[in-house]
Amino acid sequence: MAGRFAPTPTAALHLGNLRTAVGAWLAARAAGLAFRLRIEDLDQARVQAARGLAASQLDDLAQLGLDWDSPALYQSDRQLVYERALDRIRDLTYECFCTRREIAAAALAPHPDGSAPYPGWCRDLSPAERRRRRQLRPPALRVRADQAQIGFQDLVAGAVTGAVDDFVIRRGDGVFAYHFAVVVDDAAQGVSQVVRGDDLLDSTPRQIWLGRQLGLPQPVYAHLPLVLDHHGARLAKRDRSVGLAGLRAAGLSPARLVSILAASLGLTPPGPRCALAELVSGFDWALTPRRPWLADPASWSDG
Ligand code: GLU
Repeated sequence: MAGRFAPTPTAALHLGNLRTAVGAWLAARAAGLAFRLRIEDLDQARVQAARGLAASQLDDLAQLGLDWDSPALYQSDRQLVYERALDRIRDLTYECFCTRREIAAAALAPHPDGSAPYPGWCRDLSPAERRRRRQLRPPALRVRADQAQIGFQDLVAGAVTGAVDDFVIRRGDGVFAYHFAVVVDDAAQGVSQVVRGDDLLDSTPRQIWLGRQLGLPQPVYAHLPLVLDHHGARLAKRDRSVGLAGLRAAGLSPARLVSILAASLGLTPPGPRCALAELVSGFDWALTPRRPWLADPASWSDG
């Protein structure tokens, strides 16, 4: 039984990621769980650069006082594990030859995450038609989810229900999709509690559905509201520089940032600077704010 943090190594961890990591670690330790890390570097094309970024992400986490109970798992090492898991549900999948552009052009209502719902064109292609199209382009694999309705109780967001579309689990270039890898890996790492940003709340019904098809235990979910700037605009994209290195360069110590993050999670830090471990006993989901955190890093000082 474990909690976890699973960064994607495409950039330094920003304030939102650091807050999620702190929340995930505190929730796990308060519940007496182990803590795991996973580097979500599925995209082989970027793996080289990703290893360096992942190392500095782990360093940031350690500076904040996080520890973990086994070496971080790298998704780029796990292609064979994903292939084996796919074999267990192959009869639920079908090949899809559509391009993203074709699907977007047909979309009437995009998903909340901006992606277009799949209109199901390749669902029932004849074997001959599939053979013909394989000559033109390598197919992606989709699951037949039949708009299954999935409901769950989120520790922060409350009751959530969503329909599951025929989502992609392996891209045409053979790279497994995030939704697939995350479900396989959470189970492999014994993750019983998933704490992450609420930008992934809409994806959770897909992941729960997939876990059930694979016969895996379902973790408990807690989705933390996003971090916004003090005008209420998204911080994640615009202010990527608001990471630990940038804050340290501006004179903020990791212990000061831990105290700020703790307060943003509804906890009362023991002082203007504190060690993460001091917060474990006071952690309580009932205190977690249900609204985005409006952060104003320019106003923070170490004092
Ligand atoms: N790798 C994802 C991200 O960095 C998080 C996935 C998850 O926590 O399930 O946004």
